[in-house]
Amino acid sequence: MTTIAYSKEHAQIACDSQTTDGSVIVSNTTKKWFNTRCGSRVFSSGDTLDIYAFEQHYKNGAALPTSMNLVKYIRITPGRVFYGEVKGGVLKEEALTTSHAIGSGDKYALAEMTRGGDARAAVQLSSELDTQTNDNIHTFCTQCARKTQSCKCRQSISINISPNPLLLKSLA
Ligand SMILES: [Zn+2]
Repeated sequence: MTTIAYSKEHAQIACDSQTTDGSVIVSNTTKKWFNTRCGSRVFSSGDTLDIYAFEQHYKNGAALPTSMNLVKYIRITPGRVFYGEVKGGVLKEEALTTSHAIGSGDKYALAEMTRGGDARAAVQLSSELDTQTNDNIHTFCTQCARKTQSCKCRQSISINISPNPLLLKSLA
């Protein structure tokens, strides 16, 4: 299946990229998220066809098939994180107020985050212990919903708190 981890402390979501069919790996580069028209990013775990049906529902308003097996998901809009479940044509979503993980490697990810690890470290540990999770890991900032590489949130924080060398010079 997969591992998707949300660390509240680090304002970070991480996911792996593996798709498995039974005991066979069919892809190492699966994108485990989709973007919605209202600016959300949705990370989901479940069977491939069920996730596809869920994505069509979210994007285009297609009806949720009643035959659907359980899909769990984590959704971010900038600054807010939600946890949801979809099954048998029913969708339930609520605000996520603690760190959380979903997918086949969820327990390992939760253990790592309980020990203080960030979401990326959580998925990394899952990839070492869960055969259905790989170490092709993508990370996202929950403050801006961007990929960590293009996020400016932490950068602007560090600029604000680091001393201004020009100011220090003028004070000396
Ligand atoms: Zn950011």
